[in-house]
Amino acid sequence: MLIDARTLVNGHTVEADICIVGAGAVGIAMALEFNGSNKKVAVMESGGLDLDSRTQSLYEGDHVGRPTYPLGRNRLRYFGGTTGHWAGHCRPFDQFDFSVRDWIPHSGWPIKIEELEPYLERSQPILGLGDYDYSSLEQYAKQLKLETLPLDSGRLISVMKQQSPPTRFGTAYRQALKESKNVSVYLYSNVLELITNESASHITRAEVACIDGPKYEVKAKNFVLATGGMENPRIMLLSNKSAPDGLGNSHGLVGRFYTDHILIRPALDISLSRKGFDFRLYSKIHRMNGGRMFGILTASDELTRREKLTRFRFHLYNITPSYDAPVGGVFSSIDGAREAQPLTKEGGTYMAVHMAMEPIPNPDTFVRLSAKRDLFGQRQLEVNWQVTDAERSNAHRAIELCALEFARMGFGRAYAPMLEKPDEWPANFTSGKHHCGTTRMSDSPKTGVVDRNCKVFDVDNLYVTGSSVFPTIGHTNPTINLVALSLRLADHLKGKMA
Ligand SMILES: Cc1cc2nc3c(=O)[nH]c(=O)nc-3n(C[C@H](O)[C@H](O)[C@H](O)COP(=O)(O)OP(=O)(O)OC[C@H]3O[C@@H](n4cnc5c(N)ncnc54)[C@H](O)[C@@H]3O)c2cc1C
Repeated sequence: MLIDARTLVNGHTVEADICIVGAGAVGIAMALEFNGSNKKVAVMESGGLDLDSRTQSLYEGDHVGRPTYPLGRNRLRYFGGTTGHWAGHCRPFDQFDFSVRDWIPHSGWPIKIEELEPYLERSQPILGLGDYDYSSLEQYAKQLKLETLPLDSGRLISVMKQQSPPTRFGTAYRQALKESKNVSVYLYSNVLELITNESASHITRAEVACIDGPKYEVKAKNFVLATGGMENPRIMLLSNKSAPDGLGNSHGLVGRFYTDHILIRPALDISLSRKGFDFRLYSKIHRMNGGRMFGILTASDELTRREKLTRFRFHLYNITPSYDAPVGGVFSSIDGAREAQPLTKEGGTYMAVHMAMEPIPNPDTFVRLSAKRDLFGQRQLEVNWQVTDAERSNAHRAIELCALEFARMGFGRAYAPMLEKPDEWPANFTSGKHHCGTTRMSDSPKTGVVDRNCKVFDVDNLYVTGSSVFPTIGHTNPTINLVALSLRLADHLKGKMA
């Protein structure tokens, strides 16, 4: 059922078994898991079916660290959430992403890939993806009569990403939720605060308000925050009546470890002198078993371990250069350059290589409440995104390795500002719009906000899900992984309530 909450009376009480806050990728995927069950589910969604500027303004906030995308514009606050403009690139985390890497502080998940795998597979159709098969790039290349790059697998490898149509959750699942008998989506419903018992160990109700409309409450046995990587911690910090520092924040971790991919687009321009190689496996999207896919480059586990790097990936795009890229000379001091073909700018086809890199978890990057208020009088967020010298060295080495590989394969020469000025970040580096880490998962409340089942430590009926619980983020995009984690949480709640 879809309910316009502006039609409710002031002081109304909604009662449910589960209250899910937010109807984006996570909230909708979870709601669908309960559709048709004997559980009464209330989904609180801030927006309506279309974007409106006043609701969207509730996302506004400030950057107090390195500025990236405006907070009020990169996330979308309406039914379907940010999937209203996501790009749809998908690839699951792998075993390596979950492991403790002794060269990366705060790395390691409390769960293993095996615990997520069945849910990753179940996430594929929800996201409009093909078979759950990310290992067959070679096989698809053969079917397409294309080749993978002849990479030195001790350095870089080719792997597959899948491409969602991209599924817009707000339109794709609207009808199913409209027809649901046991799931009610309350539109225009902003959860302002979660109210607890005196010891802040149990949520008793959520306070909800509509813009220019009624204020009402939700009472539920279990509450799930599914409002995205920035808003999850905001609601927890705003819920401070019984816990002055915010819910689940006894160790000051809510909002800390804010993490996002570091993007350099392009990281390299390669002027291709070697003719005859068809890059379309990488630069175009291809139909495959029931879905669509393309190839990317990443570091082998062996190289990542040997060189103590974080994870990174490269996307290859064929382009015509839009500026006067200086070619040549870049490799002059790099071993392997001799193998690169000489080229003239006139002769070459250019390829832009975009890099996304995993950052190092850092407690000093954070989101927190600011002094500014939104139109409900609630404190806005400020974001302190920082990048470190260690990350800059990591990015430099990743780009160098990519350049060396293209040189070794004899494809041409690369221009990369970071190779010329390793002590500086290039002007075109930014963040990935993947807001992660702010309520990280751990086995101990001293090092995390939620446990392995996404339950907030010390609060017996509050769960948080989405990218905010990721302790580390690998090189890949978050959405398939956060949908899978949410399906896992749905199963956990079914077990708990059975
Ligand atoms: C431009 C762009 C491109 C992207 N491309 C990709 C990609 O290619 N691949 C990929 O994996 N990921 C991509 N992402 C990230 C992807 O969009 C997110 O991972 C995904 O949407 C997160 O889902 P979510 O449900 O956690 O949050 P959202 O989708 O943001 O949903 C949160 C929901 O909570 C609601 N809400 C917020 N606060 C409240 C409140 N107080 N009360 C009630 N409701 C509330 C919002 O209205 C919204 O509906 C991209 C993101 C952007 C911005």
